[in-house]
Amino acid sequence: MPRQFFVGGNFKMNPATREAKIALAKTLNDATIDQSVEVVIAPPAIYLIPLQEALRKDVKVAAQNCYFKTNGAFTGEISPAMLADSNIPYVILGHSERRTLFHETSQEVAQKTRAALDAGLSVILCVGETLAQREAGETAKVVEEQLEPVIAALKPEDWSKIVVAYEPVWAIGTGKVASPAQAQEAHLNTRSFLSSKISKEIGESTRIIYGGSVSGGNCKELSTQPDIDGFLVGGASLKPEFVNIINSRQ
Ligand code: PEP
Repeated sequence: MPRQFFVGGNFKMNPATREAKIALAKTLNDATIDQSVEVVIAPPAIYLIPLQEALRKDVKVAAQNCYFKTNGAFTGEISPAMLADSNIPYVILGHSERRTLFHETSQEVAQKTRAALDAGLSVILCVGETLAQREAGETAKVVEEQLEPVIAALKPEDWSKIVVAYEPVWAIGTGKVASPAQAQEAHLNTRSFLSSKISKEIGESTRIIYGGSVSGGNCKELSTQPDIDGFLVGGASLKPEFVNIINSRQ
C-alpha cells in the first residue's frame, strides 16, 4: 500500500497571540488542500483546543510534547491521557529542541512514546544528527541509536501509529535545508534499519517525513524523493506558503 503523504506544522512557541493562531487556521480553512495529504498542526498546548475548534475538520492538531505518566504530582506537565481525553490525536515527541534544551534522552522519548500509544495517541517521532555528527560520518549511527529504545518499547502493531520525522539538527531553523540526495539517503537508511530491526513490512509501511528549513521553494524537489513521505515544518508553517508545502506533490 502506498504511504499517505503527511505534512505537519510545528508552531513551536509561536506566534505570540491567540488571534494570530486563529488567523493561521483561517488561512488553512480557506485554502484548497490536496485531499490525499494528512495535515496536522502543532500549536502550543494552551491553544490546542481553540485551534481544533477553529480548524476545518480535515486538518488535525498535535501536542508538541507530553509526559509519560497518566496523572500525579508533575507540575507543568500534560499527560497523554489528558490529550486523548481532549480528543487531540497526535503528539510530537523527541524534537531536537526538547532533546537539546530540555535534556530529554532517547530512553525518555521511548517511555513517552509508549505512554502516548497506550493512551491511544499517534506519535510524530523526531530523530536527527548534529552538524558535528554528520561531518564525522555518524548520521545513520545517531539516528539508529535514537530509534533503538523506541523499537525496544514498541510492539510491531504499534508502528502504524508512528510517523518518523528525520530532522537534521543543523537544518532546523537555520535556512540550511538538506539536499534531496542527503535527505533521501538518511530516509532510506532509516527505513532499512526499521526493516532489519522489526520487519520488512514495517520498514516499508512506516512514514518517514523530513524536517529542517522546508519552504515553499524547496518542498517540491524534496517531495519527489522515493523515501520522503512528507514534511515536518517549523518556520514556514506560520506563513501562507505552508499551503504550498501541503500541496507540494500536486
Ligand atoms: C521543526 O521545528 O521541526 C523544524 C523543522 O523547523 P524549521 O522548519 O523552522 O527548520
